[in-house]
Amino acid sequence: MTLEQIKADESQYLMHTYGRFNVALVKGKGAKAWDESGKEYIDFTSGIGVNCLGYSDDGWVKAVSDQAATLQHISNLYYSPLQTELAKKLCKATGFSKVFFANSGAEANECAIKLARKYSFEKYGKERTEIVTLENSFHGRTVTTLAATGQDVFHNYFFPFTEGFTFAKANDMNSVKEKVNEKTCAVMVELIQGEGGVNPLDKEFVQQLANYCKENDLLLIIDEVQTGVGRTGTLYCYEQFGIKPDIVSSAKGIGGGLPMGACLCSESLANVMTPGTHGTTYGGNPIACAGALEVLSRVNTPEFLKSVQEKGQYIKEKLSAMDGVSQVRGMGMMIGVVLKKDNAKEVAAKCVENGLLVLTAKTLIRFLPPLNITEDEINRGLEIFKKCL
Ligand SMILES: *Cc1c(COP(=O)(O)O)cnc(C)c1O
Repeated sequence: MTLEQIKADESQYLMHTYGRFNVALVKGKGAKAWDESGKEYIDFTSGIGVNCLGYSDDGWVKAVSDQAATLQHISNLYYSPLQTELAKKLCKATGFSKVFFANSGAEANECAIKLARKYSFEKYGKERTEIVTLENSFHGRTVTTLAATGQDVFHNYFFPFTEGFTFAKANDMNSVKEKVNEKTCAVMVELIQGEGGVNPLDKEFVQQLANYCKENDLLLIIDEVQTGVGRTGTLYCYEQFGIKPDIVSSAKGIGGGLPMGACLCSESLANVMTPGTHGTTYGGNPIACAGALEVLSRVNTPEFLKSVQEKGQYIKEKLSAMDGVSQVRGMGMMIGVVLKKDNAKEVAAKCVENGLLVLTAKTLIRFLPPLNITEDEINRGLEIFKKCL
């Protein structure tokens, strides 16, 4: 099939929900991908932060395909040793008490929101339901997580949205305090706004926020869907802010390429969910768990996480020295590039034409390379990027 045929079928049979780059990918290995004509691309996207071990990593392929050949799905009506092992390893690695497995980032956030509301319901009654999130945030595409997303463009068409979300300004404690009232039960933030343009929060603000939440029995929910699983150079990004949230949502990288989400909670929330209050048919599916166990065992070592920090630093230094780049921000290998000319979309399309896959976020170029990308692949990608600038 040619690209033109694929595009014609896409146009005819798929709902037009996505703007796509002018390329169809059919094969990948590590940080390289190939299109239907055999052309090679360096990958700085990981499928939007999902393929943390790159395309079709040997260890991950073996774990997943062995599990597919052994037992692909059992539902949550039966005990699953793989699900249990993954939950135990995630809790031990993070210090959280319990985890719920979902199938996406939005679903992990749905669990976080339900958990916060039920905790508050049981302690304070049914009036205390509101959640403060930040302006310019992104929390997902379900009707509730759209409502939680602090961007007006997402609050259209699908009325009525779920009630109970208000939006404070990032890095502004006064704004948070203005939004909090006797009905507030939680605050939910991304530590680096990903879709919003790779905006890291100030450490001081995050620490003040964490203290304020503690003092007022507001649950602090950190949406680590994009920042989690080694992306920023620690297993979870909150570790670098010196805080301990009550709830962390995780997805994207967690399954290494399979749909999985997770909602982790602290001791005080461990018994909030009871049988019948939450669930999902696929959640913690054995194949997804096998993939996630491989990811966790590979990513969560001091050497691997250090290499993510070093590679991120190296990429940032190279970018900062390029003409046409006015600012580089982000942590680890979650990197946003502000261009001198406001033409990120154009540059991203040029990169693809020249064999480099990159992302945009608002008016920025965004890089989320596979965490195990090699130095040679980084250099080749940066060379193409420089040329396209
Ligand atoms: C991608 C993303 C989501 C949504 O995840 P899906 O898997 O697309 O539902 C939620 N929050 C953040 C911070 C994200 O980056």
